[in-house]
Amino acid sequence: MSEQLPGVPEQLEALVARVLAPNPSPFTYTGTQVYLVGTTDLAVIDPGPDTPAHIEALFAAIAGRPVRAILITHTHRDHSPGSRPLAAATGAPIVGCAPLALSDDAIGSDASFDHDYAPDRVLREGESVGGAGWTLTAVATPGHTSNHLAFALPEGQDGAGALFTGDHVMGWSTSIVSPPDGDMAAYIASLEKLLHRADRSYYPAHGDPVENPQRLVRGMLGHRKQREGQILRLLRASPATIPDMVARMYIGIDPRLFVAAERSVLAHLIDLRDRGSVIEAREIWSITL
Ligand SMILES: [Zn+2]
Repeated sequence: MSEQLPGVPEQLEALVARVLAPNPSPFTYTGTQVYLVGTTDLAVIDPGPDTPAHIEALFAAIAGRPVRAILITHTHRDHSPGSRPLAAATGAPIVGCAPLALSDDAIGSDASFDHDYAPDRVLREGESVGGAGWTLTAVATPGHTSNHLAFALPEGQDGAGALFTGDHVMGWSTSIVSPPDGDMAAYIASLEKLLHRADRSYYPAHGDPVENPQRLVRGMLGHRKQREGQILRLLRASPATIPDMVARMYIGIDPRLFVAAERSVLAHLIDLRDRGSVIEAREIWSITL
């Protein structure tokens, strides 16, 4: 299924189609996948970037059917800006995650956020929107961003539910957790939360559908434990800066991902500091024990 063409809708099951946006990158894999849920009326999940060819492709996929809601998992720029032209043209409400609670000062320098996101309705944990034969219910999954939501579709094929996981669980890579908005402890808690659910499959914003999702989530939790163990071992050997640690932890990394790796290590260090295991002075981290 990875031979997707941007803009060409692909039906994944009776109620779910996806449209790939033309924004591939080292951070988005093949691009952002927009999901259309429903048959006679629709929800559009994460409409993606506001670029003319992509928005035109979305309209073609919608094919005149009424759009009941435009749902947003989180407000990174590759997910939410397309909500505005779509809402303007269809009259559908923008519902989903809250605008970011952090002040613009804290995240203002971070160009990855969509600061113009303006939902008509914020969905809280357990709240739903619905249409003909479908319901989408918010599952709060903070961590990748503080406002991240997943959406559960109980009316999936075989009577088993699907979960639209946004960037919380992706089909090709682990999520980036970038402080101050990204929070490693929250991210890990949100992964553990998914282990207690019985979803049949995940539809991530990037990468192919995930069957047997519990196994993937367990693997992701194991990966984070491993990274944490690596950091503690490095710091036990000697205090270090974050770039030092990244150079030793991510051998052979794509240089374009170096900064993202630094953010991820920082997220682990903040979590470890909050638990009393490490301290920082003048950008040098060391172990407390
Ligand atoms: Zn994101």
